[in-house]
Amino acid sequence: MQRVRGVDTTPEMAVRRALHAHGYRFRLHDRTLMGRPDIVMKSRRTVIFIHGCFWHRHQGCRFASNPKTRQEFWQTKFRSNIARDQRAYSDLAARGWTIHVVWECEVKQGTYLQPLLTVLEQQSVSIGKSSSPAHKQES
Ligand SMILES: [Zn+2]
Repeated sequence: MQRVRGVDTTPEMAVRRALHAHGYRFRLHDRTLMGRPDIVMKSRRTVIFIHGCFWHRHQGCRFASNPKTRQEFWQTKFRSNIARDQRAYSDLAARGWTIHVVWECEVKQGTYLQPLLTVLEQQSVSIGKSSSPAHKQES
């Protein structure tokens, strides 16, 4: 099951590394969950999808371009991708999971991390194990 290609450079790896560096622990590609989320934080009941802008049609994103040829083929393909994502989101939401989508372009630009960390930190407050100090330093 080993992949030899340059896996290290994928957006998914970048997100995994960044979250790990911030002390978050998670599982990967949980097959028991619909949509097989890329990152699963079970204790927080949170899943993170890292989506390619093209295949998952990131709205308004320049990487979600429309191929000039075989338009019908692509439109059908895109529609089914979007429908599959929506089914997975609503199934997960119905089971009480919180869903975050990180787009590939945000990973490339490095803009995804701060918002994601902010959301995760707020969550840990609302889950509230012990009262955690609010003055956590950013490094
Ligand atoms: Zn994008």
